Amino acid sequence: MKKAKILLSAFFLLIFTLSLVAQTPPDEFLGHQVGADRKLADYTQIQEYFQKLDSESEKIKVLTIGESTLGKPMIMAVISSEENMTNLEKYTGISKKLRDTRDLSPEEAKILSQQGKAILMITCNIHATEIASSQMAMELAYLLVTGKTPFDAQKILNDVIVLLVPTTNPDGQQMVTDWYKKYLGTKYEGGRMPWLYHHYAGHDNNRDWFMFNLSETKAVAKVLYHDWIPQVHIDEHQMGSTGARLFIPPFMNPPTPTVHPGVWRGVALCGVNMAYDLQKNGFEGVVYDRSFTGWWIGACDDTSWFHNVIGLLSEMASVQVATPIYIDPSELSDSYVEKHMEFPDPWPGGWWRLRDLVEYELTLSLSLVETASLHKEDFLFNFYKMCKDGIEIRPKGKPFAFVIPKKQHDYPTALRMLKILRFGGVEIHQAKEDFIADGKFYPAGSFVVLMSQPYRPYAQSLLEKQQYPDIRQYPGGPPVPPYDNAGWTLPLQMGVDCDRINHAFEVNLEKLDSIEYPQFVPPDDSAAYYLLDSRLNGSYSVVFALMKEEAEIYRSKDSVEVDGFKAAAGSFLIKNSSSVSKSLPPLLQKWHIKALELEDISTIEKAPLKKFRTGLYQSWHANMDEGWTRCMLDDLGIPFTTLHNKDFKGEKDKKVNLGEKFDVIVFADENADIIKTGKPSPSSPYARYFSGTMPPEYEGGIEKEGVEALKKFVEDGGILVTLNNACELVFKEFTPPASNALERVERSKFFCPTSLLKLEVDNTTPIGYGLPNEVAGMFSRSFAINTRPPSGEWDRHVVAHYPKEDILMSGWLLGEDAIARKPAVVDATYKKGRIILIGIRCQHRAQSHGTYKFLLNALLYPETD
Ligand SMILES: [Zn+2]
Repeated sequence: MKKAKILLSAFFLLIFTLSLVAQTPPDEFLGHQVGADRKLADYTQIQEYFQKLDSESEKIKVLTIGESTLGKPMIMAVISSEENMTNLEKYTGISKKLRDTRDLSPEEAKILSQQGKAILMITCNIHATEIASSQMAMELAYLLVTGKTPFDAQKILNDVIVLLVPTTNPDGQQMVTDWYKKYLGTKYEGGRMPWLYHHYAGHDNNRDWFMFNLSETKAVAKVLYHDWIPQVHIDEHQMGSTGARLFIPPFMNPPTPTVHPGVWRGVALCGVNMAYDLQKNGFEGVVYDRSFTGWWIGACDDTSWFHNVIGLLSEMASVQVATPIYIDPSELSDSYVEKHMEFPDPWPGGWWRLRDLVEYELTLSLSLVETASLHKEDFLFNFYKMCKDGIEIRPKGKPFAFVIPKKQHDYPTALRMLKILRFGGVEIHQAKEDFIADGKFYPAGSFVVLMSQPYRPYAQSLLEKQQYPDIRQYPGGPPVPPYDNAGWTLPLQMGVDCDRINHAFEVNLEKLDSIEYPQFVPPDDSAAYYLLDSRLNGSYSVVFALMKEEAEIYRSKDSVEVDGFKAAAGSFLIKNSSSVSKSLPPLLQKWHIKALELEDISTIEKAPLKKFRTGLYQSWHANMDEGWTRCMLDDLGIPFTTLHNKDFKGEKDKKVNLGEKFDVIVFADENADIIKTGKPSPSSPYARYFSGTMPPEYEGGIEKEGVEALKKFVEDGGILVTLNNACELVFKEFTPPASNALERVERSKFFCPTSLLKLEVDNTTPIGYGLPNEVAGMFSRSFAINTRPPSGEWDRHVVAHYPKEDILMSGWLLGEDAIARKPAVVDATYKKGRIILIGIRCQHRAQSHGTYKFLLNALLYPETD
């Protein structure tokens, strides 16, 4: 490491700046070296420094590209030669022309590639505790604008436009810095925060990149796929402390099949150049081709692959935020001690500091800037070629298209999916006439996603079913789990019918610039009742809004027919009133749904809805699924109250009475031991994420008294909802007529990394209302449930179960027999109350709109007789 430091300081001595205005070095601005031990610049300082540099140099312009979830401006620095900076629109224009290649000949593309500039995007610090890159970004900008680089910056920046986002998560950067500074010098220094470092997503903010639930994702994706169209993109991260010092690509097997091979070659070229430059400068412990695979869509850099962008990832070994750590050589992981071809220079152990991370990151970032310059013309031309290959389907190029039929279970949700695809750059057409494709009839108005399009890999990967390759540790050995999801198919997650069409067909199509929701005529305000179909997620949003206004609402027990339209069982019957007739039309418009008018509901079998007050448990373990649950509830406009450990405990002699304030209490997916005690059991897979001491106010769980309070809540008529792993709390503490069917099943007998599995649903029962007969459930460390005939005061109803066979819909599943025919969602009654066990991720990352209703129905359970 010493060698590296000397070399970096040598850059300062050897290279002379030609700039006339003095630019302030970040060290001088901050009053300490960037990355000094126990020193962090917060987001305010980072913004101020970038603004200062902007005012001091013509080579940098700081733009605001959006707003964070909690309202901070998101900044991006554009850095290039002075001449390029006055022509930015021309160069982004060239990038766009090279993507939209239909009217472009190879000769024209060649000329454009010569005239154009390589656009390189560097995104930092999406994971807020992985904070080094947010600090490094200031120094990188300074080195580039002052030319204090290992290369001739004047020449290089004439070829390259650098887009530098110092943090993709400004809220989190600030939270982590504040938390770190608060506990500096105490025994909690460098420890984890008790809440998510992104308001909704925490670490999962890097799982949102095709769904765009988060405003930060939207802001950066707009730069990537709409406004700037870079050809190279790197996202800078950190990983654990005891392995390699740095991972950079090439990525490990398997590759996602749809990604253009040109992307992998470009990734390898840039990655190997980075490794070479790091080695040249004495940086030890750099590895590639390990841990991080080429299979997945959803992370910031990975999603770039599907857009024909050379998408790269860097993962530095972490320190404790800004606190140095000493790693004894014996503590290094076994696989990072010996030399390997992909790891030829092991790090021997010793002290490891934030400044080390900054220096590795500066070196790899500068290397990438240089590579982008060296291959500028190539990168631009190959981007054109890859986009062109997307348009020109080769002879074997199946599928031809995907069709989203006009008739859908939940049409507004289908439109929402199309809007999401459109934002990701997918071209969408609408049929202007009826047509037949692969032997099936589709009416005019059906949507067609032709595979002939520049971002074909992206469109295909999201619309088709994944088949994860059967990869074993050795022939016949245990399966090797994927890095993240094995399956993610968006139409399955969102409950949208979508057909893969293999053969070419002809139809008159209209290309849609944007997806518009239909406009409905508002219902007659003199109607006695209104009916909202339970199949539409939007109906639930309208109902929650009306319940705030004390509207009288019922749920039908069967399907209801009105003027030839058949609404599903569980549809909402709303009594008209002066407030309903005023509130309803704007709500229908907001959620894009139609209400039917009814004069009399006396013959309809129904049950009233009482006002539901929902509590959602939030542990001090930064539980991402809890965050996504809030994200989904906020998105649908559903009110709830957050509950903490203390809310489950009484004061002195007074026991807590949860039923006084709540009708429904929801526990998101979380380890049952963490919920109860604040700690996972040592054998749990969660245990490895659990270390360090917390300040006492964040220690512990709901404890025994919390469990007792929950039991009382259910006995008195409350509804307890447990999602995925939280179901264990019920299995362990409540002695229900249900248990975990997979508890003792070995991995060799059953294996299912996050995948979409088929569920058959009883939609005549309240928790199944509005769902189709068959849904795709996201299985992610999920359950099959054993139920048994009850005794005493228990009863149970199976709402959804896995079918007998052919259970996998998208992803990877071994040993389906272990779950065949077994329930996944159970509605259990105990005394006056209920426990709803939802053994899948029904609101997975606020993506699986198709199974939201399992939870929504639990929140709107009609009164029983
Ligand atoms: Zn990360």
